[in-house]
Amino acid sequence: MTIFQKIARREIPADIIYEEEDFFAFRDIHPQAPVHVLIVPKRVIPRIGDAQPGDAELLGRMIVASKEIAAKLGVIESGYRLVINHGPDAGESVPHLHLHLLGGRAMAWPPG
Ligand code: AMP
Repeated sequence: MTIFQKIARREIPADIIYEEEDFFAFRDIHPQAPVHVLIVPKRVIPRIGDAQPGDAELLGRMIVASKEIAAKLGVIESGYRLVINHGPDAGESVPHLHLHLLGGRAMAWPPG
């Protein structure tokens, strides 16, 4: 079981701020911005490169829900960034697909 599955099952504490039947969102334990939330499917897709056509609807709903989460956290007007890290060069550290929602400060482009 992944750490994010344990959070979904409330076996590990986290600040859960949004939940649907098949995905949820909680604050990152090491925030990289004033707002840093992870949006996570409850079933494990290890990383975006492992996603299958059958995952498209779920992933689409997660992306659409990000605007509701951004609004709830007060960054819909100031702006926010969605990030998915796949593999070592991207800095992936948890093998359970997640969208980072980052906001609350101006961010550089290109990313480091
Ligand atoms: P990534 O490097 O893209 O795989 O992102 C994994 C993220 O999960 C990192 O930003 C971590 O800070 C975050 N993280 C790891 N463990 C926890 C936890 N128990 N609660 C909240 N966030 C976590």
